[in-house]
Amino acid sequence: MATDYDVIIIGGGPTGLAAAVYTGRSLLRTLVLEKQTVGGQIALSAAIDNYPGFADGISGYEFAEAFLKHAQRFGAEVRIGVGAASVARNDDGTFTVGLSDETSVTAKTVILAMGRHPRRLEVPGYDKLFGKGVSVCATCDGAFFRNVPVAVVGGGNSAVEEGHFLTRYASEINSIHRRDHFTAQKILIEEYLHDPKVKPVWNSVVEEIYGENEVDGIRIRNLTTDKTEDLPAKAVFVFIGWIPNSAMVKHLVRTDDEGRVIVNELMETGVPGLFAAGDLCVRPIYQLANVVADGVQAAVSVERYLEIKKHHDPNHGY
Ligand code: NAP
Repeated sequence: MATDYDVIIIGGGPTGLAAAVYTGRSLLRTLVLEKQTVGGQIALSAAIDNYPGFADGISGYEFAEAFLKHAQRFGAEVRIGVGAASVARNDDGTFTVGLSDETSVTAKTVILAMGRHPRRLEVPGYDKLFGKGVSVCATCDGAFFRNVPVAVVGGGNSAVEEGHFLTRYASEINSIHRRDHFTAQKILIEEYLHDPKVKPVWNSVVEEIYGENEVDGIRIRNLTTDKTEDLPAKAVFVFIGWIPNSAMVKHLVRTDDEGRVIVNELMETGVPGLFAAGDLCVRPIYQLANVVADGVQAAVSVERYLEIKKHHDPNHGY
């Protein structure tokens, strides 16, 4: 069947936009669907300091804007505020993508680049006070909590990096982690713990976030002694990992126990014409540079797939 696009890229984060730069430059009719913010999670990052080539760092927002411009320069159509609601493979091997505005579009190939979302802390007060002091984004909400105590939960790169960002504003940071050490990169840990405002609270979990219309404090439990303690906090920043946004495609692709899409090194999902890349997938590391590379690989794989199809099936419209 004649399709609207050669490739539909679902997700306008760094992975999706990197793919769009390549497919656009290869003159493939490219549609990028981004239901929220171009740049995805990275757009919320205050400073990107470890993307090779940007010696002075760059803000997530600037980075995302530059990426968008680059993809558009090569002709990619980027629809912002429109998400994919469904993906179906048609009998002739093309794809129909249902959109959040209840229309649909078709393409010869699809690249899944929907990324992942932050894991919730399953404790009383989390939902009630989310947006009222409970946050998953220091860059977005940190400035609201000047000269007051805050808590950070988690021990990976996100917790340590975002916690470090919060030292600009908060009067003190109780940094709560269920282990007796952080697992973030050494350089990040050193910078973080060097700040006198940061008080690591080891071997501990949050049991409750309390307050009515704002956060008034938290109750933590020490896993070694089983003792509970109340700590002052006007905000709780939670960085305890991620959940892949794979629910929409679980009927089509293979996923691991955590719901991450399984791909090979060519970003192939095993379904002909359907590729997946970046944070949505099982990857050895989750760094900006390698999820961008994933997008590039997916785009090149799309090109090759279409070339092969055209060669073997010249009357098929490929
Ligand atoms: P992560 O590495 O998965 O760390 C999650 C943290 O949350 C761990 O400390 C984990 O503890 C803790 N945790 C998980 N579930 C919990 C729960 N229910 N209650 C309390 N604590 C819980 O996640 P991340 O820090 O967001 O990083 C994700 C990926 O992005 C990583 O690959 C990271 O390297 C990358 N990243 C890189 C940068 C950078 O390079 N600058 C910045 C941010 C993120 P356990 O260790 O005990 O499981």
